[in-house]
Amino acid sequence: MAKVAVLVVVLVVVLGCLDGTIARITRSHKLLTEQQSNIPGVKIEEAADGEEPTTIANNEGLITNETTKGLSDGNVAFDDDFIQPEGRVLYRGSQLWKILVDTEEKAELLAGLRDGEEITMWGGNASTVDILVKPDARDKVRKALDAENIKYDITIDDLQAAIDEENPPLEEEDFDNRNGHRLTWQAYHRLDDLQGYLDFLAETYPDLVKLQTIGNSVNGRPIRLLKISNGQTGNKAIWIDGGIHAREWITPATVTYIINQFISNWENEPKYIQNIDWYFAPLLNPDGYEYTHTVDRLWRKNRRGSGRCAGIDLNRNFGYRWGGSGSSKNPCAETYGGSGAFSEPETAAVQKFISGSSAKWKGYISFHSYGQYILYPWGYNRVVPPDYQDLEAVGQKAAQAIKGAGGPSYTVGPAGNTLYPAAGGSDDWAKGTMKIKYAYTIELRDNGRYGFVLPASYIQPTAKEALAAVKIIAEASYTA
Ligand SMILES: [Zn+2]
Repeated sequence: MAKVAVLVVVLVVVLGCLDGTIARITRSHKLLTEQQSNIPGVKIEEAADGEEPTTIANNEGLITNETTKGLSDGNVAFDDDFIQPEGRVLYRGSQLWKILVDTEEKAELLAGLRDGEEITMWGGNASTVDILVKPDARDKVRKALDAENIKYDITIDDLQAAIDEENPPLEEEDFDNRNGHRLTWQAYHRLDDLQGYLDFLAETYPDLVKLQTIGNSVNGRPIRLLKISNGQTGNKAIWIDGGIHAREWITPATVTYIINQFISNWENEPKYIQNIDWYFAPLLNPDGYEYTHTVDRLWRKNRRGSGRCAGIDLNRNFGYRWGGSGSSKNPCAETYGGSGAFSEPETAAVQKFISGSSAKWKGYISFHSYGQYILYPWGYNRVVPPDYQDLEAVGQKAAQAIKGAGGPSYTVGPAGNTLYPAAGGSDDWAKGTMKIKYAYTIELRDNGRYGFVLPASYIQPTAKEALAAVKIIAEASYTA
């Protein structure tokens, strides 16, 4: 392993020297004279002025230091032996392990296992990491962990069994009383059902709801935006999206649930809900989402290209400090940020719509899973914006509201410090470039018991608590 590591370092140095195509562009950001925040070790950093220049990387699969940095999210997708003749990726015998990682040495050992493709990382925080262990790597991984006295629990014994049980097929009677659409919030639905629901709303509530297509995915699927508004001039605006990451099925289910609650209860909603222009994009990565239903349940990126190294991580493709820490230059990596900022039609659609709109944006909420976090900028590094205390206070209030709605504990904090630095995220762009005050990424349930494979029975409780958090952010946005 040490030899491999040395080799990688040598390769990085050699390739780095030979490669003249990466333009080094100096970033113009202001450090507020090294001003400390109240968060230990975290400085305050203002947004960069104007449009951020972006570094266009070469697209040749160059391995850089960033490829191997950062525990979570740097995975290379599972290889082709998992693809079965019928075209579906199966995870029979793969297990999810929760590992106690409290030292640098342990983190490095895991990074080594990941780079050797023995494991893939699912999620984690400062003390534990969830890893997916392939069946033929179990012994090797176990020995490596035991040798370093690293403790672990097996949380999913057979991942394929968990996938098979996650989303039981609905009986036809479950669709009774649906009144013109097929969403139940008792199951994870395919794209057609989600689209059908949006059409239904636009047809049924023409005075309240407007539906538009803001772009098309790589494979030509429409990216749709539903606006709910009482039409009053002067309304402030909030953006809510889901499904940037394909496998995070709970997020489109949650966003549509929130829409449904607003519409069913509109007349009784408080002023700070009614007098907001709401923009919902329930599914920003429709190609990836369909792919998780038909081929690989654990697909994360969009569907540019084909094969093992297909796809761009859309949440590393936004144009604020694009290409920095926690985003990979390696197209095969799960966190590959693309060939340039907004290179992908899915993110470009969001950029074009928000930057071209005259709405008075005050809130931006991007739903992800999993981990139960309410995260705010900055994500690109362990720094916070000057008004971070406002974001923290509203985040804490939202976490309280989640508990009040019967939900579990959600951790609040700046993304780069609470999890790990990850540049090119949508919330950093919303805050940094679009200057939207209350920009959040909310990582929904769970804590790693099921991870991405959250059983459908959790949709309603999870969505209900998310709605409680949205209402708090709306209240703050209304007066912002
Ligand atoms: Zn995500």
